[in-house]
Amino acid sequence: MARVDCDVLVIGGGIVGLSTAYAVARAAPGTRVTVLEKEPGPARHQTGRNSGVIHSGIYYRPGSLKARYAVRGAAEIQKFCAEYDIPHAQTGKLIVATERAELPRLHALVQRGRENGIPVRELGPAQIADYEPHVRGLAAIHVATTGICDYRQVARHLAEMSGARIHYGAQVTCIDRRPDRGVAVRTADGLVVRGKVMVNCAGLHCDEVARLAGDDPGMRIVPFRGEYFELARPDLVRGLVYPVPDPAFPFLGVHLTRGIDGGVHVGPNAVPALAREGYRWGTVRPRELAATLAWPGSWRIARRHWRYGAGELRRSVSARSFAGAVQRLLPEVTAADLVPAPAGVRAQAVLRDGTLVDDFLIREAARTVHVLNAPSPAATASLPIGRAVARRALVALAEG
Ligand SMILES: Cc1cc2nc3c(=O)[nH]c(=O)nc-3n(C[C@H](O)[C@H](O)[C@H](O)COP(=O)(O)OP(=O)(O)OC[C@H]3O[C@@H](n4cnc5c(N)ncnc54)[C@H](O)[C@@H]3O)c2cc1C
Repeated sequence: MARVDCDVLVIGGGIVGLSTAYAVARAAPGTRVTVLEKEPGPARHQTGRNSGVIHSGIYYRPGSLKARYAVRGAAEIQKFCAEYDIPHAQTGKLIVATERAELPRLHALVQRGRENGIPVRELGPAQIADYEPHVRGLAAIHVATTGICDYRQVARHLAEMSGARIHYGAQVTCIDRRPDRGVAVRTADGLVVRGKVMVNCAGLHCDEVARLAGDDPGMRIVPFRGEYFELARPDLVRGLVYPVPDPAFPFLGVHLTRGIDGGVHVGPNAVPALAREGYRWGTVRPRELAATLAWPGSWRIARRHWRYGAGELRRSVSARSFAGAVQRLLPEVTAADLVPAPAGVRAQAVLRDGTLVDDFLIREAARTVHVLNAPSPAATASLPIGRAVARRALVALAEG
């Protein structure tokens, strides 16, 4: 049976795990880092299936990890992309109010942006048309520091620059942690890896990995699929156009994003996924679904948000309804302009009482750091998150 020994053992080769490996290498050169990733390559889940937006940090509660890490991370990721020649651009974006009821929330975003140190410009309808001639709205804000990039390439470079030993096709199925002997994990095909400290960056499976280690994470991942369409008439949109988000949800609402490839994506919505990696309605994993339904928090979300959820479900099964929602921002769009595109699934942590965990959540246990909530904007914020996780792992390593 193969054996590998290392100092820091990272589970998960998404952007958070790879950024952690990279940060360990920079903070403590010579530390032996091993990354175990169950897929045949990096970034096959959330990191490779997102909107590709470098968020400015405007949305997040001042002082929260999201606000601090997104603002810092946005500048750092642009620098990282420039340094390694990864496609990226600082495009700016519009957040557009289409109904009167949204105006106070738009105004609150202006305040929040200013508190987070983000320059914003308030626009009336004529100025909206200067930026986006086909978009309609009552008022908008322009955020200049928003950008786009290719997070798959960022992840690949982090993997390379980390110097870590990375095993792909290595799904961790068993964890044995002993106070005097560190952590030993076994993968589905029998590889055994021993580390002095373990870091759990397993994204959609982070709560399962925590429980494999014998820790009670106090939350469950409830997977929310985000479906996308490609706009067949990309000339209708120049840059990034977002609605005013509903503060009851940690999701930003269906937006229009001209990506780094030049195409315009429309989405993502937010519907319950029937498997953690349930990228379409037909993917159902009864064991995972049963675990989601057995978590009291899932039912509490359903009771609280059923009306919103029913609308999202309708828009998921009917391109015409989806187009109807987009028409609020872009009246010329029709269902015929929407070409189905690959979906992503968000790993959203939910507490027992139904609270959707809003901020990033990092918890420590003996010889272990668990990343338990790293939803959007965690790709933007990946470099600061990686440093924060690496710092904790290195403290645990020093404590022996
Ligand atoms: C639809 C959507 C749109 C988004 N848009 C944006 C955006 O525009 N900007 C932004 O900043 N953020 C965005 N995000 C959020 C961002 O993509 C995520 O926050 C980020 O990618 C999380 O990275 P991660 O490494 O934690 O997770 P992941 O990328 O999911 O990586 C976790 C890895 O762990 C592996 N793994 C799991 N279990 C095991 C196991 N037992 N053994 C070994 N490996 C395991 C998985 O295979 C996976 O590769 C979006 C997310 C989604 C879903």
